[in-house]
Amino acid sequence: MDIKRREFIGSALAGSAIGLPFASGAEKDPTGGGTKEQFYRTEDEVVIERPASGKPHAGKVLAAIQPHVDDIAIFASGTVAKLINEGYTGYLIRTTNDEMAGAGTTGETVLHNEIDNEAVAKVLGLKKTFNLEYRNHCLDSEPIQDFRGRLILLFRLLKVDTVLCYDPWGLYEENPDHYVTAKMVEAACWMAGMEKDYPEQLAAGLTPHGVREKYYFARGPQLVNRVVDISSTIDRKVAANVAIVAQGPGGNAGARLRQSLAAKGQRLPILGDDDETANRQYIKHLVLDYDSQASRGVPSDREVGHKYGLEWAEPFHYIGPPESKLDQYIAEHKTSL
Ligand SMILES: [Zn+2]
Repeated sequence: MDIKRREFIGSALAGSAIGLPFASGAEKDPTGGGTKEQFYRTEDEVVIERPASGKPHAGKVLAAIQPHVDDIAIFASGTVAKLINEGYTGYLIRTTNDEMAGAGTTGETVLHNEIDNEAVAKVLGLKKTFNLEYRNHCLDSEPIQDFRGRLILLFRLLKVDTVLCYDPWGLYEENPDHYVTAKMVEAACWMAGMEKDYPEQLAAGLTPHGVREKYYFARGPQLVNRVVDISSTIDRKVAANVAIVAQGPGGNAGARLRQSLAAKGQRLPILGDDDETANRQYIKHLVLDYDSQASRGVPSDREVGHKYGLEWAEPFHYIGPPESKLDQYIAEHKTSL
């Protein structure tokens, strides 16, 4: 349904004032506009972010922020792994306690998700996790000043430069944990850089520190202006999803499918001959690709990549710091007194 919805909106905008053609350029949409029909967007360029050599992000800090244990793994872990490879120090912030998703009693469910969350951080090379532990499915009734203030404290404490999270303007998002977290993150990003907000934090020794870059992902239509090449980190993305067994589309699902087919005297060659291989292959080829729409509610990472000449890719609404033209204007127009 999401694909149809995106196609409808895209085609409705094609050729209109806001369905602008892609600009040319080696790093910008080499397919010449192949995604117009797929994503709702209003910008005239889609930037392709490719793997960088060396550690261009050394000294920078990112926060991967998720309401639930599986959100980053499902939608953005290829990009998180890529940015960590390129020098970022990373943290994982989980805003709920995941008590509503998973087997066992409520207490067991919370514990299982907590264990999985630590495993995701380890797989992705993130330095530490912070669990805000708000009640699962209840974020729309939590005190937002408290929630936002805690995020601001973390951004100032960790000196976060870059966040990855749900898109606060993503359409048709049904989960309050997703859209409330997204809106709190968006507000906290700029408010953390102000000098009067939450003054008790400043009195305690923290200094203002605004977030400069944002990678927003969504389950429904969104403005996509950046596609990240995750071909070199796709197997880390698979591993992150294998690590989540309490809930989500990954975990041991491949092994379960392999065993259920075997009980009927059948096998899928792509799942291999052991459970470990089955879990990895199921996520890579079914959850992230062939059955992506049913498994995750978004198009296949492989298909998104192929539209841009890439093997695997993740789409984002990216917001970076605006470039000032003031220095250029002064250089071109200054006169002597
Ligand atoms: Zn979620």
